[in-house]
Amino acid sequence: MPASVPNWSVSDVFEPDGTEQLPPELVEQSAPEPEPVSAGAGAPPGPSTPSTAERTERAERAEPADLDTLLSVAVEAVSGTPREGQTAMAKAVDNAIESGEHLAVQAGTGTGKSLAYLVPAIRHAVAANTTVVVSTATIALQRQLVERDLPRLATALSEALGRRPTFAILKGRRNYLCLNRVHGNAPEEPEEAALFDPAAISALERDVRRLREWSSETETGDRDELVPGVSERAWRQMSVTANECLGAHRCPVGADCFAEHARNEAGRADIVVTNHALLAIDALDDKPVLPEHDMVVVDEAHDLVDRVTSAAGGELSGSAVKQAAKRCGRAVDEEIADRLNEAGEGLEFVLGESAPGRLEELPRELSSALSGVRDAAAACVTALGTEQREDAETGSVRKLALAPTQEVHDTAMRLLDGFDAPEGERHDVVWLSAENGRAPALKVAPLGVGGLLRQRLFEQRTTVLTSATLALGGSFDTLAGQWGLPPQRAARPAADTATAAEPPSDASEPSWVGLDVGSPFDYQRSGILYVARHLPSPGRDGLPESYLDELAELVTAAGGRTLGLFSSMRAARQACDELRERLSTPVLCQGEDSTGLLVDSFAKDPATSLFGTLSLWQGVDVPGESLQLVVMDRIPFPRPDDPLASARQKAISANGGNGFITVAGTHAALLLAQGAGRLLRSASDRGVVAVLDPRLATARYGSFLHASLPPFWSTHDPEVVRGALRRLDSATTDR
Ligand code: SF4
Repeated sequence: MPASVPNWSVSDVFEPDGTEQLPPELVEQSAPEPEPVSAGAGAPPGPSTPSTAERTERAERAEPADLDTLLSVAVEAVSGTPREGQTAMAKAVDNAIESGEHLAVQAGTGTGKSLAYLVPAIRHAVAANTTVVVSTATIALQRQLVERDLPRLATALSEALGRRPTFAILKGRRNYLCLNRVHGNAPEEPEEAALFDPAAISALERDVRRLREWSSETETGDRDELVPGVSERAWRQMSVTANECLGAHRCPVGADCFAEHARNEAGRADIVVTNHALLAIDALDDKPVLPEHDMVVVDEAHDLVDRVTSAAGGELSGSAVKQAAKRCGRAVDEEIADRLNEAGEGLEFVLGESAPGRLEELPRELSSALSGVRDAAAACVTALGTEQREDAETGSVRKLALAPTQEVHDTAMRLLDGFDAPEGERHDVVWLSAENGRAPALKVAPLGVGGLLRQRLFEQRTTVLTSATLALGGSFDTLAGQWGLPPQRAARPAADTATAAEPPSDASEPSWVGLDVGSPFDYQRSGILYVARHLPSPGRDGLPESYLDELAELVTAAGGRTLGLFSSMRAARQACDELRERLSTPVLCQGEDSTGLLVDSFAKDPATSLFGTLSLWQGVDVPGESLQLVVMDRIPFPRPDDPLASARQKAISANGGNGFITVAGTHAALLLAQGAGRLLRSASDRGVVAVLDPRLATARYGSFLHASLPPFWSTHDPEVVRGALRRLDSATTDR
């Protein structure tokens, strides 16, 4: 709860006089006008638009204009109105580039943060003749940057920069169609499961045929451009990983290769847009996959640790070993490949007999099965040999066998070595996973990625990290610690640093500062945070009846318009089934159609509600009257049996830290903030974030979580919140 009660009552926003009408000035209120940019005290100096003569002169000299000028031109062309937070962020990014000091910027929804980092990044790339990498967590943001923001900025800034800036998108090789496979130079290999299912075979053949046809139409070969898409199985038939690729110089169609074209384009571009996984692979691998660059902007930085953890993790199952053996069978002595197949069967058997969960020690049977896999894979790798004079087909067969076999070998070795050190000194966490009916697999992931990020990212190049949610519990330090950065210290003003503040860290540690540029939204006047303190704490056996009653009353008061964010699919389905019985308004449930189509239906009809789980917490952007209530059933802590979270928690506690807050609290705070962020997507949006879990108000950690949320007006009173929702519903319905 905020320390001080706001100086208005909830009726000031939602219903001042019982007339069931919202005050027009609040309903109609346009975006809280951003302060005009001025050079007044505490405000960044205002940009001024250069004259045509000035621009022409610069263009002739091919010298980029200063940041203020570029920003002014960009804002005029793209959004029309300067925003205080956007200007402050652009200046901080520019200062980071100049000073080399890393910057973490929290920029709330509506700041226009992509423009705020792209303008100084483009200016730097053009001025220094270098490349800036922009990394995102989601395809949606990648698309927004490449299809909307960058083309508009490139056009707007060309004259003031002296030339048109260039940009490119770069993904992992697996995302591009492999022409060598399309042309049949490498064997196709329907998976075993598909071989016995005629329907699956014909669907696979259909998809593969479609990919072959598409290969002559597409200019990029980028999987995301194929609409509708094809099955994962079919895509795997027509693409390769980096390790499976023959290499452009040996590949008979290397000159036309889509992945190589994308790499070449990226090598020439000022701005390269990529994803966190490729950024992590670039950092992990000794062979660079990204073009030479001296600066990185990490957008959606709240997801960086998870994405890097995934990229740095590994997985081994009996079927993966047998699949590698099958590929080896085409390239090496049958006996050697059979040995790997038998080792795979041995591993499959042992894993099938083992209980899922984290492995703190390696059982003897498993150790022996893994040693068998490691040795058999090593024999295959030796038999496959090194690059030889061979035709494309033989080379492809060898490469397609070598890549997975090497991976099987390296993962088996990593799993075995992971248990060598005493428990408190291990770097990896190993667990047996048996999810959703899939065959059991051993998984391994690093206990932390801070050391990796620090050494391979922050010590190499200037990095700007940004998101709407970075300051958890009001501080950047929690996430900074996970990124491998030292705690932020109090700073004195100085002119030459990212936020005009003296670098707070000592010379041996990466220097960084955090900056919160806020949001142009007026959260206190536009939204209510309601915590149902009167409800019982959530249990393990589904949603209690009292939660369903509360939910039904809230959705009824809101007239639908509800996004229900649940901590499990089971809870989402339970709520959906129950509310369909009780309500006259439609309720959609994630999984009943593609998420994109469900969100479209939800956005089109204000009476419709949409319930779901994790991907909805971050992926829904529905401004306007279709979304006026966000309900979260419980604080989204990781499951207590989550092996990685519990191992990380334990390791931090063993070192004297607060493992629960650092790991589970951070996870929950990030998701809560992301979920609450679904409510206000434009300055005229109004509504309620309702958290049914009373622990947000009653538990000791509640204040940390609360401080991570946007500063809504808060209440625990169900009557107040239902009244506000009813008035908002009737006001929007009457309009
Ligand atoms: S260079 Fe590699 S990815 Fe490109 S077509 Fe050849 S094998 Fe496929």
